[in-house]
Formats: sequence, C-alpha cells, structure tokens
Amino acid sequence: MRFQEIPGMEKEKASLIESVQADHVAHAQLFSGANGSANLALALAFATYINCLQPTGTDACGQCASCQKNKKFIHPDVHFIFPTAATDKYKREDAVSEKFLKEWRAFLMDQPYGNLEDWASFYGWGDKRLVIPIKESRNIISALSLKSFEGKYKIMLIWYPETMGPAAANAILKVLEEPPGKTLFLLVARDPNTLLNTILSRVQQFAIPSFADEHIKQVLQSREGLAPEDIDRMAYEADGNMRQALQMQDEDAGVAEYFRQWMRHCFKVSFAEMVQMSNDFQKKGKSFQHSLLRTAFILLRETLLEGVQAQEVSRLPNAERAFVEKFAAVFNPDKVAQLVPLISEAQYHLERNASPKILFLDLSLSIAQIAKA
Ligand SMILES: [Zn+2]
Repeated sequence: MRFQEIPGMEKEKASLIESVQADHVAHAQLFSGANGSANLALALAFATYINCLQPTGTDACGQCASCQKNKKFIHPDVHFIFPTAATDKYKREDAVSEKFLKEWRAFLMDQPYGNLEDWASFYGWGDKRLVIPIKESRNIISALSLKSFEGKYKIMLIWYPETMGPAAANAILKVLEEPPGKTLFLLVARDPNTLLNTILSRVQQFAIPSFADEHIKQVLQSREGLAPEDIDRMAYEADGNMRQALQMQDEDAGVAEYFRQWMRHCFKVSFAEMVQMSNDFQKKGKSFQHSLLRTAFILLRETLLEGVQAQEVSRLPNAERAFVEKFAAVFNPDKVAQLVPLISEAQYHLERNASPKILFLDLSLSIAQIAKA
C-alpha cells in the first residue's frame, strides 16, 4: 500500500512524511479512526514509506525491493498482530497471527478499509469473538529481539489492540516503552478510549478523520457501472465511511445480476421461476427491492440509448452492455415506454408497503406480456 492509493488525507500523509524526513519518528504510534476510515491503510502506507529505499517527498517509490515486498505484505521486517479465534486446527490460545498470515495478506489486498467483522467473515469465523491472545505478547517481544533483515525499521503493526486482554496488554508495556533500536510500533485502533491507560500513555496518538465525500466519490467513480446519481447517493449515505460505500457498490453490482436473471425468466414466461424470484425479492428486504427497481430504470434508459444507436453515451460495463443489447432486441422503444410507468408505479406502491411478493409477481407477468406482444 502506498500513500497515493489512499484518496485525500493530504494533511495526514504530509505529517507522516515530514516526521521521517525530519528524523522525528515516534517509536510507538496509535492510528485511531472510525469504521471505514483510512487508519489501517495509512499505517500500511507509512510502513511502506519508511522502509522504502528510494522514497520521494510524497510517497514510497513502489519499485525498490522493499516496496515490492510491502506491496504483497511479505516484508520480513514488517510484523502483523491481529485478532483471531479458534479453528478446527488451532485451539484458542494457539490461534496466533502467524498461523493466519496467508489469509490476512489476502484480506489486506481485498479490504484495506475493512473492520473486525469483515475479517471474521473473510476468514470464515462468522460471529465468533476475535481477540489477540496472551501468547501474542511473547511473539511480539521475540520478533523484535531479532535484528532487522533489511537494515531499516522493524515494524510491529497491531490491528485492533483493543481486543488484547489486560494480561496481553500489560506484557508488552515494557517493550512498547523502550523498544529495541529502529523499532516502530504502529497500533491501529477504532476506539482509543477502550485501550488501557498504560498503553495510551506510551503511544503518540494520531487521529485519522473520516473521508470527505469527494474522496469517496473518487473511489466509486473508478469502479465500473455506477451512474453519477448512484455515486452521489452512496457517498452521501456512507458519510465518510469508505467501507460502507464500497459495500453499497458491491450490493448494487449484485442487484444488477438479479435483475438480469429476473428478466430472463420474464422473457421465457417461466411461471414457477417468476414466483420463486418474487419470494426471494421479498426475503431480501426493502433496500434491495428499491435498488432492484432503480437498476431497472437505469437499464431501461440504456435500452433506449441502444435503440437510438447511441452507445457512446452509455456508461455500462461490458457484462451489462451485452445484456442490454439482448434486452433491446426484445424491448423496442415502444415497449420500453410501456414498461417505465409500470416500474414507477411499483416504486410508488413499494413505498406504501404493498406486499413485495405480490407486487413483483404482478410486475413479472406484465413484463412477460409486454415482451410477448
Ligand atoms: Zn521503494
């Protein structure tokens, strides 16, 4: 992870870089930030920067041997401690971070703005409680007693230190206060108030703000298939939480696939499948149902554009483009014009608590009828 991969946060990046250039790096720092903030991402980018062999004034080089390793989270001088739970293979006390590094690296690649819940579900722990067990404090001390492999900083990144019990936390106080030379503790926490005072008094606190809407929009814009109004809505609803914005985007992508499947059943007039899908839509809840109808609107708009041969106006990714082409072959502009009021009527009734199951089944039958006409 490099600074440039994190949108915004200019002040925070500058202050971290400045501390390196002025040789004033505090040996124990606490990056705290709310859910979906850049606390972990900035700590990772800082670790990359500080060990880069050819850093610039604004970022790590991304090319040197150290950057190559940090990119894959396999730098031998960067150690990770994070909460875990027991598995079939490891008992609670033996489930230490080093046993899960492969999955952890994949998680960092996939969800640098993820939280503890995401990590639990990524690994498959479900809703088990994750903690940093006492055994980790011994691992921390022994990892730091080694000489650094590549001559620069040894870094100990502890994610969610608030999940350390008092015994584990107390066991690292001494090394946190007086770490061996060229050692850097980066604690990445959500809520510093839940940490022991003895820990807090030994770290330099660095509060990471939530993202600005414009930076959330920037990330959403780089993803395919979102209309500007969706981007605005998601950025507004996410309220500075990048994790939430990305999740909404994933859900929307899932909705498009449901919509395609639903339309296929309507075209084929597969009655049993139409009933099944209406039941599924009912179970998925209000927010899903609304975004399904919104998706219907977007795709109808694209179908009209397809009808007038205006592909260049379209913003759809390839998967949806192929679908729209087939859809437009069945639904000419006249048929689309019949569909639009049906969709907006469905939205109207959905807001007024109509039964989703009946509403979507009715809609399916009407769509099937228009397709066949
Ligand atoms: Zn580098």
